[in-house]
Amino acid sequence: MSETIKRSDVNGQIAKLTIDMPGKGANILSGDVLNELDQHLDRLKGEDGLKGLIIVSGKPGTFIAGADLREFVASLDADREEIVGLCRRGRLLFAGLHELPFVTVAAIDGICVGGGAELAIACDRRIVSDAANTQLGFPEVKLGLFPGWGGTVRTPRIVGLYNAVEMITGGKSISSADAVEMGLVTESVPAERLLDAAIHLIEQETESQSFLEDRKKWARPLKMSENELSFLGVTAAGFIEQQTKGHYPAPLAALEVLIGGSSLDPQAAGELESEEMANLFGSPVNRALLNVFFLTDRNKKQFAAHQTSTPIEHVGIVGAGIMGQGIASTNLRSHLPTVMNDTVSDVLQRGMQSVLEQASYSRNLKGPDVDQTIALAPLLSPGLEITEFQHCDLVIEAAVERSEVKKNIFSKLEEVVDPKAVLATNTSTIPIDELASSLAHPERFLGIHFFNPVRKMPLVEIIRGTKTSDATIAAAFAYVKKIKKSPVLVRSGPGFLVNRLLLPYMSEAIELLLEGITPQAVDRVAKQFGMPMGPIQLYDVVGLDVAAYAEKTMASAFPDRIPQSSLVTDLVEAGRLGQKTECGFYSYRNKKRRAESDPTLNPFIDKYKKQDRDPDAEEIQDRLMLPMLLEACRVLDEQIVEDPRDVDLSLILGIGFPPFRGGLLFWADTLGVAKILKKLDRYQSLGSRYEPTRRLLRLAETGDTFYD
Ligand code: NAD
Repeated sequence: MSETIKRSDVNGQIAKLTIDMPGKGANILSGDVLNELDQHLDRLKGEDGLKGLIIVSGKPGTFIAGADLREFVASLDADREEIVGLCRRGRLLFAGLHELPFVTVAAIDGICVGGGAELAIACDRRIVSDAANTQLGFPEVKLGLFPGWGGTVRTPRIVGLYNAVEMITGGKSISSADAVEMGLVTESVPAERLLDAAIHLIEQETESQSFLEDRKKWARPLKMSENELSFLGVTAAGFIEQQTKGHYPAPLAALEVLIGGSSLDPQAAGELESEEMANLFGSPVNRALLNVFFLTDRNKKQFAAHQTSTPIEHVGIVGAGIMGQGIASTNLRSHLPTVMNDTVSDVLQRGMQSVLEQASYSRNLKGPDVDQTIALAPLLSPGLEITEFQHCDLVIEAAVERSEVKKNIFSKLEEVVDPKAVLATNTSTIPIDELASSLAHPERFLGIHFFNPVRKMPLVEIIRGTKTSDATIAAAFAYVKKIKKSPVLVRSGPGFLVNRLLLPYMSEAIELLLEGITPQAVDRVAKQFGMPMGPIQLYDVVGLDVAAYAEKTMASAFPDRIPQSSLVTDLVEAGRLGQKTECGFYSYRNKKRRAESDPTLNPFIDKYKKQDRDPDAEEIQDRLMLPMLLEACRVLDEQIVEDPRDVDLSLILGIGFPPFRGGLLFWADTLGVAKILKKLDRYQSLGSRYEPTRRLLRLAETGDTFYD
């Protein structure tokens, strides 16, 4: 028997199972661990004189982080019967735990999610630590699944159907306090008292026998009227449809199982759960979302691989504009002392205020939390003189996008900062090597490229210049980790990674307008594909002036394949800059500032219109996504990033590429190279931007895929 679950006894009559996976940072419920549990339960069942069982984790700060997803991946191609069997096995195992002839208590400190939460709710009672990282939840919908080991049967019986629907279809974890309030757990205590509290609870329950009453109650269908069920079904389904836009089937399937199972006995409800689970397991969305999970996991491991000897404890920000403010407020949220400057004193003053407001923003209050503002204020200071940056370990320049201005800033900084300090630019377009060329120590210089709005966008591109040292890269990784963002390492090149992939997609959208397709039609197809907004509206959100500038940079780097649009330049000249001027491709002159079609746009388009076509949705989708895909192939060939997974994660985190597609290249693999080449063939008359790249041709020849 492996050594994950250890049995010990407390006070002679209480058994304790300690789950502690050897060599792992967190416990996961692999097939082996479940087998072990099965054997322990078998033995416990037959023992005389036991009053109770406590299940704890041997890992402080984590109870159980869920099932073993690598085993899930290995079973993706299993047939329906096999999937139903796997679900049934887990469910019956937990049912065995639930039926032990004495009271069972899960004593939970830290993360308790997925399969771990299903194990916990199979116990009669749960006690949790009040630590901030104690979280309970069912995140399975984020993987295109729902709890399949009895979770949909037991949760509504413990906390009621409404709460169960919210927890399981929403996939969000809840805190100890919320779990107590909901009735999911009995009590929340300090971590060091967890075991004593569990023992005490077993004593109480043994005396009152109330756990047996609950077992009887939970063995029956839920008491809810047809009306109540149908009201819940309709309202929850409406909400889910609105959230998922029909792209994610798991939450609706979970709702059906929860409602359907509520009027059945647990055994029949469990069978329903397993049967429905077999519909989701291995589906394209499940596969894609598992890929996204592994992309994120890989990214976290890359973090850990970069060890730094220069921890970042004091950051300087040059420029108090949109980005400077965003970066500074993100620092403050992670309690990182920050000094910020600007050449314009008014801008600095307003910027400082806005940083504090952004940093102390509370979602509940829908505005700044005053206590937080007061607590964070001492961490922010104005850099009235360049010498104020002398104590910074990292200075990020976020001044205007002009090379001479930035070079001048860095040469001044080099005079005052510590020789070990890291210097970074947030430039969107200027090559890192160009800015490094005038530095005495280019090895400590790099790009740290945030996305707008910084508060919401998790991605940060860490851009390596030719001379950037590994130590500088490691320090940047450590900083990005500290502010809880996701870094991706990129080699310098026009548009770096995300903007380089985005621009071909956006400029192709303009080409479609010039072929007579309306902005609404273009945006509709992109949204149907799953993009958070269409490319034309994205122009308006980014600002047409900013987009025109980025387009110019890309068009001059790649003149053969990025058509620089005079249409966008004309709109900029006419003062139609997008949302910020309430008018761009769309008009925003309405109460809710929603994008509305604007007939005054037509003359601008007519001036350059090439034809009047009405292509089908498939063609529009191809025209948007294929240029992005081809650019991704070139980016890999040029080793701007090393792995297709970097492209996929960056697009998901940087532009909201739909996770249910698994990533751009993951999606391409689901299409297959042969089909992509066939599609490209159709658009050859449009010029070299649709030419298959070397990588595509090679994959076609070898039969390989982007992902290995
Ligand atoms: P912004 O115009 O809002 O802010 C720039 C600020 O820099 C201004 O307040 C200006 O007064 C100040 N400034 C100019 N010269 C300075 C100097 N010598 N010292 C100190 N401050 C100086 O611009 P922004 O949108 O915040 O962009 C800043 C940088 O971030 C640019 O390089 C831009 O390309 C990059 N960027 C912007 C975005 C975006 O969406 N806005 C996204 C990623 C990166």
